[in-house]
Amino acid sequence: MRIKKGDQIQVIAGKYKGKKGKVTRVLPALGKIVVDKINMVKKHSKPKREGEKGQIVEIAAPFDVSNAMIVCPNCDKMTRVGYAVKDGDKSRVCKKCNKEF
Ligand SMILES: [Zn+2]
Repeated sequence: MRIKKGDQIQVIAGKYKGKKGKVTRVLPALGKIVVDKINMVKKHSKPKREGEKGQIVEIAAPFDVSNAMIVCPNCDKMTRVGYAVKDGDKSRVCKKCNKEF
């Protein structure tokens, strides 16, 4: 996965196209990410105790990582991610400004 938790992304397809957000979860096995305020779905929560009512809560649902592009923290542009290897460490590089992030 090129996208990591905490990254800024922009949605490039679907209902949330053009929206930016912060990645809060990464699900590598599914190829999906969860982003704050993106892909919100209503969920019914069951009452926790007897006598309580169930609630409808909105949560951010996972969506396909291919529908998002990373936003470079240096140049603030949507970019593809390259890799640089330095002293055996792999770091991600912005293809637009060539800075590591
Ligand atoms: Zn950049």
